[in-house]
Amino acid sequence: MDTSFNNPHLPMLYFPENSWKKLFAYADIASGEISGLGKITLHENGTDFIVNDIFLLEQVSGVGSTNLNPDSVAKFITDLIVAGENPADVKLWFHSHGNIDVFWSSTDNTTIQGFSDASYMLSIVVNKRFQHKARLDLFKPIRLTLELEVILENNFLGIDRIEIEKEVTQKVKILPTPSSRVIKPISNMLNNSKRGKR
Ligand SMILES: [Zn+2]
Repeated sequence: MDTSFNNPHLPMLYFPENSWKKLFAYADIASGEISGLGKITLHENGTDFIVNDIFLLEQVSGVGSTNLNPDSVAKFITDLIVAGENPADVKLWFHSHGNIDVFWSSTDNTTIQGFSDASYMLSIVVNKRFQHKARLDLFKPIRLTLELEVILENNFLGIDRIEIEKEVTQKVKILPTPSSRVIKPISNMLNNSKRGKR
């Protein structure tokens, strides 16, 4: 881990390709709203979060609502412990709004507040149109909600990048940057105008 912390920035939520494809496949295939949980690791830069895996739990889903069943959550956590995993890594709540826009409803805010036994929780809401919105909720030592930038890793699987690169090089001509657009430093311009007066 980098202990010098020389690159301070707002945290980002990073989805490896398999995680976001699974998430949007759940959203795409479910007819209504669905929700589930995800495992998070902290990036070695000490600021960003990586979504390792996401899990769909047994639930009752309606057109405008989705609720995590407490029994399903308890069973999920027990299974994790039995599998030798750390339930404290479960720090992501995801849900889909189906065909509706992505936003935080009052029900969503209540659900997130329900995670306040943890020090923090990450949440993402998606829909069938690949839209997404994510946030970090810090519960201790202060209460803070922060909008998160989401990074979806894309390895362009199934695409021949070498062929695409050839085509782009062949068809796209790059214009040279005009030198007149280079802005002169202000001090230079002032000196020039003084000289002009003399
Ligand atoms: Zn919602």
